[in-house]
Amino acid sequence: MWSLEIGRMTEGCAFCKRKVPTRGHHVVPRCKGGTETAPTCHSCEDFIHKTWSHNELRDAFNTVERILGDARYQKFLRWLHKQHDTAVFRSQRNRARKPGRYR
Ligand SMILES: [Zn+2]
Repeated sequence: MWSLEIGRMTEGCAFCKRKVPTRGHHVVPRCKGGTETAPTCHSCEDFIHKTWSHNELRDAFNTVERILGDARYQKFLRWLHKQHDTAVFRSQRNRARKPGRYR
């Protein structure tokens, strides 16, 4: 199970799925006062807050799935994966490396 490979410090981002240090991002469920959070890396959180206002996040983009399903996020994601191939991925490589895992 690959979830066991993820340490507590780097549980991985719920949005871009990279195993990078995250900080809690609030995903407010329908009832607004929600305490539900998803681990979110700095890059994604930054993008999310630049793209949507707090009201939009609360009313329309209040789950991980909704944000993932948005075309703007998908575009950002493609860009992000290019950016971080060198910097962040390198230190993670030996640990989680399994040939053919993504095929
Ligand atoms: Zn992320």
